[in-house]
Amino acid sequence: MRRKIIAVALSVMMGAMAFAGCGSSSKKEEAKQADVKAVDTSKWSKEVKKIVERGVLRVGVKNAVVGFGYQDPVTNEYSGMEISLAQKIADNLGVKVEYTAVTAATRTELLDSGDIDCVLATFTITDERKKSWDFSTPYYTDYVTVLVEKAKNIKTVADLKDKKVGVSSGSTSAKALVKQMIEKKVIAGDSFDEEKFDPATWKEGVTFQQYDDYPTISTALSAGEVDAFCVDKSILAIYLTDSRSYIEDKFSPQEYGVATKKGSELSAAVEDYIKGWLADGTIDKLMEENKLK
Ligand code: GLU
Repeated sequence: MRRKIIAVALSVMMGAMAFAGCGSSSKKEEAKQADVKAVDTSKWSKEVKKIVERGVLRVGVKNAVVGFGYQDPVTNEYSGMEISLAQKIADNLGVKVEYTAVTAATRTELLDSGDIDCVLATFTITDERKKSWDFSTPYYTDYVTVLVEKAKNIKTVADLKDKKVGVSSGSTSAKALVKQMIEKKVIAGDSFDEEKFDPATWKEGVTFQQYDDYPTISTALSAGEVDAFCVDKSILAIYLTDSRSYIEDKFSPQEYGVATKKGSELSAAVEDYIKGWLADGTIDKLMEENKLK
């Protein structure tokens, strides 16, 4: 027992050193490190044991989603609700946290390859994705909307008829928009198949251009390469400028969960933590702190 406590105390010190040395965690995070509880490492046998032995939890996060995962370009410090949750998971395991910036396109590759242990990156839980990865109970629900240049006079999903929309590869956005256009009877959607839908080949009433990251879609929107930029509202916020606005509709609830490798020992641990933090008000508090309420 004593060895375990020493190990945890060491990891707290290492966390504090990481703060002082490379600025990978904020002051708030440093304070939270002190809350680390003694962890019984003997109960882990597989993935979590590896993480505890390594002393580091490697987490895929967003770096440009204010309030969720944001990296300050000057200080390099990460902040946001997902950053704090990742830090808390690491604290509970008695290890340091290491952030890797991911995109909608790279987060699953990095998880599959083992470069990261889990993903907290505005990752929407879907039935399709649940076949490949484990997801925790949702910790936040967002909605999809569309950002446009005001000059284009696009105000609703109906105005998107026959337009070209920029979306991120590997995201839920294109399918969500098509479903909304069908629901609002903007298009008939006769050829729509939930399982087989592919943004690259969809041609009925709207087309999509897929990009690897969001800054590129924003540039394409300014250049008129696409008429609109569709994704979760939380992600769009940073690209809203004086010349742009959201359309009126927001649709397709996006429940964010922590993703881990399918069947991993870490999935069960993370699920326990998230459920606990939902029940004891921790997640509510994080939403308030990050102005997400
Ligand atoms: N949350 C959506 C998804 O998981 C949008 C993409 C993103 O998170 O970057 O597909």
